[in-house]
This record gives sequence, C-alpha cells and structure tokens, in this order.
Amino acid sequence: MSLYQRPQTLPEAMALLAAGSQKVMAGGTDIYPALAGADLHGLVLDLTAVAGLRGMAAGPDGLRIGACTTWAEVAAAALPPALVALQQAAVQIGGRQIQAAGTIGGNLCHASPAADGVPPLLVLGAEVELASPRGRRRLALAAFITGPRQTARAADEVLVAVLIPQAGLAGQSRFLKLGARAWLVISIAMVAVRIKAAQGRVAEAALAVGACSGVARRLPAVEAHLIGAPLAAAAGLISDAAVAAALDPLDDLRGSAVYRATAAAELLRRAVADVAEAGA
Ligand SMILES: Cc1cc2nc3c(=O)[nH]c(=O)nc-3n(C[C@H](O)[C@H](O)[C@H](O)COP(=O)(O)OP(=O)(O)OC[C@H]3O[C@@H](n4cnc5c(N)ncnc54)[C@H](O)[C@@H]3O)c2cc1C
Repeated sequence: MSLYQRPQTLPEAMALLAAGSQKVMAGGTDIYPALAGADLHGLVLDLTAVAGLRGMAAGPDGLRIGACTTWAEVAAAALPPALVALQQAAVQIGGRQIQAAGTIGGNLCHASPAADGVPPLLVLGAEVELASPRGRRRLALAAFITGPRQTARAADEVLVAVLIPQAGLAGQSRFLKLGARAWLVISIAMVAVRIKAAQGRVAEAALAVGACSGVARRLPAVEAHLIGAPLAAAAGLISDAAVAAALDPLDDLRGSAVYRATAAAELLRRAVADVAEAGA
C-alpha cells in the first residue's frame, strides 16, 4: 500500500519532502522494474506534474534541461550540434514507450553504470541543480554520481535541472553504444565524444565512456593527446592501450573486461572519425 502524491508546484513538493521520507518518482521506468513485480510501498512523490521541471531553455549561461524532460522530448528538440550525442542516446534508451515516460533526471538519479544519458552529458561539462527544503545547490555531474547506483543527492533533495554551460555547447558530438543486439539493449560499452575544431585541427576534445567502470568517466589523458592534431587524423591517435588504462571495466556475462575496453576504444575511434567526416 502506498500513498501517491502528485504536487503541481516545487514549493508544494518541497513541503511534502520536508514532512517526511518520500520515494521520489518521475517516469517510474527504473523504479517499477526494480520492484520485480512487488508492490510499491510508502509515500510516493510523483514529480511529473510539477511546473517548470520539464522542457529546455537557452539562456546567457547555457542550456537548462528540466529534470522531468522525457527522452522523447530530448530527441525531438531543436538543439545545437554539440547535443547530437545526447539526442542519439535518447533514441536508444529502451523503445518508444520508455522514451515517452523515462526522464533525463531519472536516468542520472538511478546512476546505473550503463545509464546512456551520462557520457553525452559528461562531454558537455554538465552540472546538476538540486532543490531541497533547505535551498538549492549546483554540482558537476561528475561529482553528483559517486558510484554504481549512488549519487550525492540527499534524501530530501530533488534534481530540478541539468545545466549545460555555454562552453559545452561548442563543437559537434556523437554517441555510440554497443549491446548484444542493435536495439532495446543494455550497453556493454557506450561512448560520447565532443570535438571542436579550428583550422582543421582539434581545438577541444571531450571523450567519455560508460559501462566500462563503476561510473561513466571522461578520459583526460586521451583527450589531451588529440589537441592540436589534424582533425582527419585524430581517430587514429586513440590507442587501445590508452583507453584501457583509463577504464576499470566490469567482467560479467555481457562482456569480459578486455572485450569492453577494446570495444570502447573502437567506438571512440569511430565516433571521432564520424565527427571529422562531418567537419566538426
Ligand atoms: C524496458 C526498459 C529499457 C530501458 N532501456 C534503457 C537504455 O537503453 N538505456 C538507459 O540508460 N536506460 C534504460 N532504461 C532505464 C530507464 O528507462 C532510464 O534510466 C530512465 O531515464 C529513467 O527515468 P525515469 O523518469 O523513469 O526514472 P524513475 O524510475 O522515475 O526514477 C529513477 C530513480 O531516480 C529517482 N528520481 C527520478 N527523478 C528524480 C528527480 N527529479 N529528483 C530526484 N530523484 C529522482 C527515483 O527516486 C529513482 O531512484 C530502460 C528501462 C526499461 C524498463
């Protein structure tokens, strides 16, 4: 037996959070499968009707994406080329039904190592904004996800938005995912890259890999190696050894650690080559 509450405003949601422990819910597409058929117990705080938590807005500081924005909405939005990777991830998160209900905020708060939304946001330098009855705070996405299924979110905090700084909106990005089949699959490895070029050379490089460590991560040493390289040659500079050294892959039934690291390096090369072909 659960008590289901669906506030219309953030202050109302904050008051409910202050009144006692609540299970925060958005699309429910991670929460319900985890119950494995059992009933949901306790107080449920459904955020999907809260005004202002949905949609995207561009401002002088960058782009703000409401936490309850669904993957279908991300995929359909007119966004700069730097967010192509996020949109490519959006259309590969489950099927249409999951994309219509699942949210960007739920993906980050669930913090699965295989959460497809994380690498495309890491290459944008994304931050998250949290609200609680005590006020608001912002932190880097890389600091928000602290471990597999662990975040820095306090029990009385709600993720209200994902913030992409202006600097992250430069360049072109790509997302590639490897699973046991082409669609409807949990990632064995996935990558996102964002490259900004100037005069045919790599001026900025952001590379992130997911499902190959407890938490998706950027690869600063590999990124540094690409700076200044001719764009057309950049993919060839990504070595299996350098990528493997930056990861700590799981060894499980979906893939061995060596397979995951090798696949991640190949996905990165393909993603960078694709950006180079498009001209960054
Ligand atoms: C069939 C199927 C296929 C899937 N395929 C993929 C896939 O390919 N790739 C992938 O990455 N994921 C996949 N998922 C997982 C899931 O759909 C996504 O992670 C989705 O983005 C979760 O969003 P949600 O709104 O449904 O989260 P919910 O289930 O509502 O919540 C997930 C967690 O986040 C918390 N939470 C949610 N919103 C907030 C908020 N604003 N503030 C604070 N806490 C919050 C909840 O308390 C809960 O702990 C799949 C799921 C299913 C059922």
